[in-house]
Amino acid sequence: QQKKTEKGKARFFDDNLQSQLLRELHIRNCMLNAIGSNEFYVLFQPIIDRSNESIAFIEALARWTLDEDPISPAEFIPVAEQHGLIKSLGGQLFEQALTESKAFIEASPATKLCFNVSINQLHDAHFAKLITRSLELTEFPPEKLVLEMTETAMAEDKSIILKQLQQLRSMGVQIAIDDFGTGYSSLAYMQNFEIDLIKLDRSFITQLDNEQTSIIKAVTELSKAFHFDVIAEGIELEEQADSLLALNIQLHQGFLYHKPMTINQIENL
Ligand code: C2E
Ligand code: MG
Ligand code: MG
Ligand code: MG
Repeated sequence: QQKKTEKGKARFFDDNLQSQLLRELHIRNCMLNAIGSNEFYVLFQPIIDRSNESIAFIEALARWTLDEDPISPAEFIPVAEQHGLIKSLGGQLFEQALTESKAFIEASPATKLCFNVSINQLHDAHFAKLITRSLELTEFPPEKLVLEMTETAMAEDKSIILKQLQQLRSMGVQIAIDDFGTGYSSLAYMQNFEIDLIKLDRSFITQLDNEQTSIIKAVTELSKAFHFDVIAEGIELEEQADSLLALNIQLHQGFLYHKPMTINQIENL
């Protein structure tokens, strides 16, 4: 009896794993064509500065339709990373984001563009050069660009990444830590990497209990010492926004304010 159950379990696991692998391969195969035919696009989500209600940033977020259904970047970006496609996909998305947002960014002195980069992209010794080339090609002002990367980038291979980031920072590009608090957080990297911004992960905001509140307080104290700004991600409720304001966090991103939208929709806000 027991054997039967275990066997059943093992099979269930295999089936799951197999369909997961097939799905991944399917995504990868379609992605190759989709990059070639420019099927990917970006939407932009406003980040509001509550101290003056202006749009402080717009974050470019990748979008794609696979087999007539929207597929989340949380699913297809990791596949692109694992199959060596993130460099071409990331480059294509970056140039789209720059081209589309340029007019709006230039007309809005207070607004910068945020773009997500994967660690794999940072490991490329030509990363800074590629970014620079896209900025030049699109004539996008470097001081209006923020590159978002996760904490894992800070944990590994410091010298290569540090060099790339220093080069970009010297041109005026800003660096943000995305999903802050979910990975390897360390005071050392904050100092070494001269971070301009951190984005507090949504998981902190969804349950603002005593513990989370003390962490956020500590982070705002650190932000004074290390001179970085703090954005809160994933704000969905009025009371979350109020709690964050009470903690002196003014940069807000979330569905409470705006969902990701086209640049035309942003221009019409
Ligand atoms: P992220 O960079 O942390 O982006 C924020 C995500 O939270 C976005 O999901 C956004 O739509 C979602 N979000 C914003 N406000 C709320 C809210 O109030 N509630 C909830 N539940 N979610 C909210 P999205 O667009 O699905 O992107 C998922 C992740 O995929 C991004 O997380 C980022 O890590 C990655 N990604 C997206 N576009 C790109 C890209 O062009 N390049 C790279 N390398 N990664 C990307
Ligand atoms: Mg991000
Ligand atoms: Mg995030
Ligand atoms: Mg993320």
